[in-house]
Formats: sequence, C-alpha cells, structure tokens
Amino acid sequence: MNRSFISVIAGGFGIAAPASKGDTDQGEHREITAEATAEMLANASSVVITPGYGMAVAQAQYPVAELAHQLREKGVNVRFGIHPVAGRLPGHMNVLLAEAKVPYDIVMEMDEINDDLGDTSVVLVIGANDTVNPAAAEDPGSPIAGMPVLRVWEAENVVVFKRSMAAGYAGVQNPLFYRDNSQMLFGDAKQRVEDILKAF
Ligand code: NDP
Repeated sequence: MNRSFISVIAGGFGIAAPASKGDTDQGEHREITAEATAEMLANASSVVITPGYGMAVAQAQYPVAELAHQLREKGVNVRFGIHPVAGRLPGHMNVLLAEAKVPYDIVMEMDEINDDLGDTSVVLVIGANDTVNPAAAEDPGSPIAGMPVLRVWEAENVVVFKRSMAAGYAGVQNPLFYRDNSQMLFGDAKQRVEDILKAF
C-alpha cells in the first residue's frame, strides 16, 4: 500500500490546492436516461456493478440487488466489484450488499475483478467516484496517483450513477466521466435504479 493510498483513506486531500488537481478542462460529458440504460443492460452479456459511498447515501442496495437478480434471470453474467475503501468504513459495501441478500459468490474484491473489466459489456458505477478514477492509474501528477482503483474505463460501456459532476471524498476531478465510453445517469441512485427496473 503506497503513501497516496493511505493519504486518501486518511482524508489527506483537499487541504492544499495543487496545480494538478485535475481541474483542467475535461471536455464534454454525455448523459443517458434510465430507459436507455435498461435497454443497454438487456442487450449485455456481462455486467459489473461497482458501488461506492453514494449507494449507501441513497440506500440503493435493495433495488440494486433486485436489478442484479433480474439481469441474472435474463441470462446476463452479473458480478459486483468491491474496492477495499469504497464507502466510509472498511467492508461498508459488503455489509450493504449482504443486507440486501446479494449472493456472496457474485461479490468480487477489486483484485479478483480488475482483469475481467476489459471483457465486460457494461459497468454500472453506483455512487462511486475516487475508487474508479483513472487519474490514479494514468496521471502521475494526480494527488491520488498510485492509489489502486477499479479499472472500469476498460469496459465497453460505463454508466455512472450520481447526482452531479461533483468530486468525491478526495476532492479530485474524475476523467472517467468524460470518456467516450462513459455516460452519466444523474439523480438519486435509488430512484434511478428503480426507474431502470420499471423500464424492463
Ligand atoms: P466517493 O466519496 O469518492 O464518491 C461518492 C459519490 O457518490 C460522490 O461523488 C457523490 O456524487 C455520489 N453520491 C452521493 N449521494 C448520492 C446519491 N444519493 N445518489 C447517487 N450518487 C450519490 O466514494 P467512493 O466509495 O468511490 O470512495 C470512497 C472514498 O472515501 C475514498 O476516497 C476513500 O479513500 C474514502 N474513505 C474511505 C473509508 C473506508 O474505510 N471505506 C474511510 C475514510 C475515507 P454527487 O454528489 O454528484 O451525487
């Protein structure tokens, strides 16, 4: 575990304002509707869900569990990818998913899922931000450079569930939101997942 990673856990960001905070112009982001996301998911062969702190805030774990269940019924290979510091407590996401009765055998740790993300049709980023930030892997000047992250940007399509373009806990902008294969699904994560379920 390197120093950057420990600093993120300890909340050591946002104190200074380094030039490389990622605040440069990132280009345009694209948006997607819940209905279009439902269609994308129905046509997917594999889906990975990477939850973060926003899933806890929205209490979205129950509709997320139902979404995983319904997609599996349709024959889609669905798994969860859990970053070791997703959320605000160690094991936060695992507890929420267990509470919502997501089967343990589809809940993978970051190191177990990372190499499969390049072969994944759709990644759903549900209220996660720092834990899926490509700057950590690709920008040596980033305050979170070197922090291990879920390489969600390698998937064919990424849908990011959050309410705005705001930064996460570390206060660092996320270039993932501006990637050609990424689309933003704005709103409260619980509401948006329920909208997808209605659209099936
Ligand atoms: P982040 O804190 O990086 O991001 C969470 C995102 O959730 C926000 O960008 C926010 O965006 C979104 N969000 C909040 N509420 C909602 C909502 N109701 N619906 C939809 N989206 C919502 O989360 P991660 O889990 O990716 O990363 C955890 C961070 O916390 C890391 O930096 C980690 O180091 C740190 N940390 C973790 C600890 C642990 O033990 N797990 C302990 C201490 C810190 P928006 O406002 O736009 O909706």
